[in-house]
Amino acid sequence: MANPPEVRVEEKLYQNRYVVDAGRSHIRIVAKDVPSANLLAMTKLCPAGCYSLNEAGRVEVAPDGCFECGTCRVLCEASGEVEWNYPRGGFGVLFKFG
Ligand code: SF4
Repeated sequence: MANPPEVRVEEKLYQNRYVVDAGRSHIRIVAKDVPSANLLAMTKLCPAGCYSLNEAGRVEVAPDGCFECGTCRVLCEASGEVEWNYPRGGFGVLFKFG
């Protein structure tokens, strides 16, 4: 029996689509003077690369492409630094299965 062809995770993720709800971000950062370790960690942990660190040392979020995995929601719940809601119906990630 032949092995199935190898497919890279990045290629599979590229099959997904994302519908932007312009002006209605479903994730918002509630900034504190100093970002928590968990919020800083999101710049490395978010599988969609939505979090980044700006030149001022602040964490920013650009949720276009978010997989709605909830990692940032869970990790930043205690600090209250992330407001997270599902996108409105018809917006957000559209997963391609198969
Ligand atoms: S829900 Fe997941 S994919 Fe979306 S911004 Fe948070 S960590 Fe990234």
